[in-house]
Amino acid sequence: MLMSQPEETMTRQSRSSRRPVAIPADEAERNRLLAEMAEQSTDMISRHTPGEWRFIYASPAVTHLLGYSVEEIIGMSAYELYHPDDVEDFKRRSPSVSYERGLYTHTYRFRCRDGHYTWLESTSRSIRDPDTDELLEILVVSRDVSRRVEAEQASQRLARVLEYSSDLVAFATPDHRITQLNEAARQALGLELTDHQPLRLQDLFAADSYGLLQSQGLPVAKEEGRWRGEAEMFSRSQQRMIPVMLEVLAHRSLGGQLEYFSTVARDMTAVKQAEAEKLQYQLEIDHASRLITMGEMATGLAHEVNQPLTAVVNYVRGIQRRLDMGADTPLSEIAQPLERIGSTALRAGDIVHRMMDFTRKTEPCRELLDLAPLVDELISFCQHSAGRHQVQLSNRLPDNLPPVLADRIQLEQILLNLILNGIEACSDGDESDRQVWLDASLDKSDQVIIRVLDQGRGLPVSDPEQLFGQFFTTKTDGLGMGLAISRTLTERHGGQLQAANRPEGGAVFSFNLSTG
Ligand code: ADP
Repeated sequence: MLMSQPEETMTRQSRSSRRPVAIPADEAERNRLLAEMAEQSTDMISRHTPGEWRFIYASPAVTHLLGYSVEEIIGMSAYELYHPDDVEDFKRRSPSVSYERGLYTHTYRFRCRDGHYTWLESTSRSIRDPDTDELLEILVVSRDVSRRVEAEQASQRLARVLEYSSDLVAFATPDHRITQLNEAARQALGLELTDHQPLRLQDLFAADSYGLLQSQGLPVAKEEGRWRGEAEMFSRSQQRMIPVMLEVLAHRSLGGQLEYFSTVARDMTAVKQAEAEKLQYQLEIDHASRLITMGEMATGLAHEVNQPLTAVVNYVRGIQRRLDMGADTPLSEIAQPLERIGSTALRAGDIVHRMMDFTRKTEPCRELLDLAPLVDELISFCQHSAGRHQVQLSNRLPDNLPPVLADRIQLEQILLNLILNGIEACSDGDESDRQVWLDASLDKSDQVIIRVLDQGRGLPVSDPEQLFGQFFTTKTDGLGMGLAISRTLTERHGGQLQAANRPEGGAVFSFNLSTG
């Protein structure tokens, strides 16, 4: 409501209106004119004594604005109603009132009748005696600006949140001129927004990402209000790309005109790095686990490779004997052993290649795979281990299975773990009844359920979940990682690996794969 204002904050209007205001000679007439104006106005018009700023007059709007009746407020000093935090401020400025005339505007908190404070904006004019220049009274027009002040405070709070947010925030005009960058953006991108160094949207982003913004991000945000996608920003200070999750918002004026775009970018460097490390770690684990599986099979495989090599040596010896018998040995007699040497050596080579394939470090790659031939190959690969334990291995897959979507090496690893476990579980059973077989079926949701069944001793624990814990083993030389890894691999394929006892004895391990 009040009135004081230092010289430097006075409005242009106030500076140009230093002429003393003519005061109607008749006090009653002046009040009548004011009352008539005040009657029409939702703003409160009041008059105050100099010094204590007591109300001499208040228009009826005082009741709407402050809850007081006109009678109640007359005689009260405005100082009584000021918010304590604003009083000092006002007093500090008040001396200027005695020296200045004209209009000044002031925003402050004033106490209402019910005790709460409301924000008022007052424009005041000091009224002086034209002859003596004596300050006679202050004429004030006040309006409730609580909503505006609250909105300003809310947007100041938001601006602070944006400024100190860890997300990289930028504002740009529809023609891509940057008008604001928050601290995180300035720091991360190594950019400063200055008058002599204008920035454009393309200065913030990698070329590809700016292209994506132009073709998709901005048009979609313009159309639908927002767009979300992945992008890369360029950091000049770190000379590197920053991967970000980007949100683009379009801001419109009340008339619906596009005024600004804002881009809010979340730095994903750490997340991407963690993902890459996790993938690398998984690759290492996969690789290590394949080496372990291969190690477990090493004796058998050595034997498998040794067999063809021995055969090759025998063929060679046979040929040598024939050649030793005389120069007239017909070539036709050594043609067949030579051919066998070739094919046997190739078989040995195949085994070695499969081992190398299986233990090679590879990036996972999903493809549609026919299960039957894959299972046949695995069975022949495990034949030696099965033979050692006198276990019969068989493929009982139905003919009409659709191909499954899987990474070949990982699927082989799961099956190999399960088959070898099955063989071991049978190894101390009745010799005539040691069987491990593979079976599969298509379920209602078009998933192929693959099962590895055995006639072994059954699960060693009542809760099958325990078997999938890392390092759980009942074997003296076991590592207890096979099932844990197999479960991770099936989950990576969107499937689930489970174990159960078969009612007929033995165990069944099953998992599902999608058919693509
Ligand atoms: P490891 O073979 O090194 O022990 P695994 O994770 O492959 O590690 O298996 C964990 C444990 O689960 C085995 O030690 C065994 O007790 C049990 N198990 C796995 N397969 C079978 C099975 N077919 N029948 C009975 N028990 C099994």
